[in-house]
Amino acid sequence: MIPYNKPALVGDELTYIRDAVERGKIAGNGHYTALCQRFFEERYGFEKCLLTTSCTDALELAALLLNIGPGDEVILPAYTFVSSANAFVLRGATLRFADSRPDHPNIDADRIEELITDRTKAIVVVHYAGMACDMDAVQALAQRHGIAVVEDAAQAINVLYKDRPLGGIGDLGTFSFHETKNINCGEGGMLVVNNPELRERAEIIWEKGTNRAAFWRGEVDKYGWVDVGSSFLPSELNAAFLYGQLQHIDEVIARRVVIWDEYFEALRPLQESGVLELPRIPQHSTNNGHIFYMLCRSEDERDALIGHLKEHGVHSVFHYQVLHRSPYYRKRHDGRALQNAERYEKSLLRLPLYSGLTDEEVRHVAAKVTSFYREDG
Ligand SMILES: *Cc1c(COP(=O)(O)O)cnc(C)c1O
Repeated sequence: MIPYNKPALVGDELTYIRDAVERGKIAGNGHYTALCQRFFEERYGFEKCLLTTSCTDALELAALLLNIGPGDEVILPAYTFVSSANAFVLRGATLRFADSRPDHPNIDADRIEELITDRTKAIVVVHYAGMACDMDAVQALAQRHGIAVVEDAAQAINVLYKDRPLGGIGDLGTFSFHETKNINCGEGGMLVVNNPELRERAEIIWEKGTNRAAFWRGEVDKYGWVDVGSSFLPSELNAAFLYGQLQHIDEVIARRVVIWDEYFEALRPLQESGVLELPRIPQHSTNNGHIFYMLCRSEDERDALIGHLKEHGVHSVFHYQVLHRSPYYRKRHDGRALQNAERYEKSLLRLPLYSGLTDEEVRHVAAKVTSFYREDG
């Protein structure tokens, strides 16, 4: 069976874990945490990075940092992972779901302004498949209305919008290093604090509401409880593994993009004959090969294709259940239909994609997708 995803060692992850242990400090915010944070700060020009135990955690930190509370409204896409929503619901916010673009699962920036009220506190954008949302439009709207922007860049490591790295454009950006992401450490994440006014407090909330980080830098002579906070730091064991992966980010992403392009070329004839739609890379976005998705003509056909691939040893998967119709939020949603998001829920299928996938396996997967439509077995 060709799995959907297969995490692998790509460099010196295990050597660094051993080194972390031998350094005698494996709790958070040590040597490898600093190396990982510095990697992002230097490579992408992010001003302040804080490693977290997950992207979910980074989003929760973001909600605390923005002082989201009961009565506040947060605008976000309906077609996203539950964590983009939960972080704000946990603080008592009301969610206002926006539809996806007709040509891409990303939020439709033209459908945001109609959702803004005087209670809107934040817009959360999600760069689906690592592909950029229309950030100029989102930033212009947010600035006009005085609203914060959070980029859920969980899938968008190393992607540029125009010449700017995703996660570095909104007030805050969040990344995931879950085992399904391009660069991973099993479970892990990161908050990027772009808005300078939020930087000092971000570090305090990150360190359980204390000014311990400032203390370690020698800026204060004792540390104590100065604000709310929680335990957001990953262990040095995770950071050491992550650092081993980050050092090979260019090779990992280059291989994923090769696979993505091979799928695209192999399936292009099916798109031309009108039986499926291939992914579109939005204008001004680069591609990090995070997800190769395709759109089927109906839910039944999509599910039949998943079954066909399974019979031929290929594990393919659908993706999000739209949040506005979820068992938890359905009763709280204002009732608007979100047609594009609902279409992606029913029609979208993802093919296996990981850097260890061989060209032969890619050809096998594409051949089996083709045989489903061509009915020649
Ligand atoms: C993976 C993902 C998350 C959650 O990341 P974790 O690190 O598993 O918490 C959040 N949002 C999006 C869009 C994701 O793809």
